[in-house]
Amino acid sequence: MDNLRLWHKFLQVIKPKTSAANFRTFFSQTILKSVEEDKIILTSASAFIKETLQQRHLPLIEQTLATLLGRKVKVEIQVKEFEQTKKTESEDDFFQPAQSQNYSLNPKYTLENFVVGPSNNVAFAAASAVVQNPGTSYNPLFIYGGTGVGKTHLMLGIGNAILKKSPSASIIYCSSEKFMNDYVGAIQNHKMADLRTKYRSARILLIDDIQFFSGREGTQEEFFHTFNELQSKNSQMILTSDRPPNEIVKLEDRLRSRFAGGLMIDIQPPDFDTRVAILKAKSLEWGTELSEDSLRLIASSTESSIRELEGKLLQIIQILKAQNLPASVENIASYLNRTPKKTLSLTHTQVMSAICEYFNITSKELSGPKRQRGLVLPRHFTMYILSEELGMTVEKIGQVLGGRDHTTVMHGRDKIKELILKDSEMQRIFTEVKQSLTSS
Ligand code: ADP
Ligand code: MG
Repeated sequence: MDNLRLWHKFLQVIKPKTSAANFRTFFSQTILKSVEEDKIILTSASAFIKETLQQRHLPLIEQTLATLLGRKVKVEIQVKEFEQTKKTESEDDFFQPAQSQNYSLNPKYTLENFVVGPSNNVAFAAASAVVQNPGTSYNPLFIYGGTGVGKTHLMLGIGNAILKKSPSASIIYCSSEKFMNDYVGAIQNHKMADLRTKYRSARILLIDDIQFFSGREGTQEEFFHTFNELQSKNSQMILTSDRPPNEIVKLEDRLRSRFAGGLMIDIQPPDFDTRVAILKAKSLEWGTELSEDSLRLIASSTESSIRELEGKLLQIIQILKAQNLPASVENIASYLNRTPKKTLSLTHTQVMSAICEYFNITSKELSGPKRQRGLVLPRHFTMYILSEELGMTVEKIGQVLGGRDHTTVMHGRDKIKELILKDSEMQRIFTEVKQSLTSS
């Protein structure tokens, strides 16, 4: 089992064993770096994540990995340094010069402009691996996820990256409808041989939204043979779908098992930070620079679909331009029809138990005297939220937090206030804590 697969399996095992918030915050922001005989190195997105994993989840991590590997391992966690992907010279003989079929590969979608975050980093890593070694390790690469999360973008990004390395590579990209129409057309015009030559000579075949093969028996039959031939020639296939193979109805079992036989990777809806980063990249692409606050405001207005988020951003930019208004937080907020600040109508007990659940600590620890970072941060968040969102006095907050002095509360509250302004990680945690409050 290679590292990527191992980590993928690991996340699947861990997911049901931990709260959704914990999973998102700590596990999905961590990747497996290397596996040695008795040591495994993980890299986390931040020092805070590293410390939390170490303090609270290490036994679970070690146990799970030991079970998957069938041997005892020690786990070391490091903090990720941002690394530039190294580009190698294109000296591969994988691609015979072939009749070029590089049509409809929209060059706009690249791996470079694909923003990577915890929701899509495993998929991105798989994509990079396929670019490095097409046809060998992950064949097919099956990418699935909801609408607008970036499946098509990632798939085209792989195609474009391969094309950059090997400009003569024969790459076919098509929607599943196109494949179906080609098939039907070939039958009607007695051109099956042409169809087969075309698809089966591809070194890279990208088929988008394969869930639409559902119920199309003839197409499935034809594709099954195409698939086998391409696989036997080590030609890379990349497929996307809005759901995993086992949830596509009216799909032949033999196709289902082939789809699942390579690497299946899902893309999740983007978390808050990734949404901000995507908005930032897109707005720069469109020649409009927006403040961090404006970007955050827009990012918090849409949860799951990046397509929708992009649409909103474009609309905002256009409308404000048309009205000759600056893209200030106020103008954007009034466009989004909401005030920047909403106060919560919750009791302090509800807030405190939500915070405990989010950070995976007990209420005794939250209001107790211990001063480890893993406890201090949640405590400060509590102070901030009780003060800013519930409007409690610092004295009262001190009381409910185990009899702390009001100056301590003020200090903690202001610290978080400051952190939220300048630290995107804190901003994200804050948004997620708030989300968990409004949804509970
Ligand atoms: P899907 O195929 O999953 O429905 P798309 O790939 O069409 O979604 O993505 C929808 C839009 O969102 C596209 O404009 C795409 O460029 C953008 N997008 C999605 N994910 C990312 C990302 N990680 N970085 C940058 N843009 C993204
Ligand atoms: Mg798509």
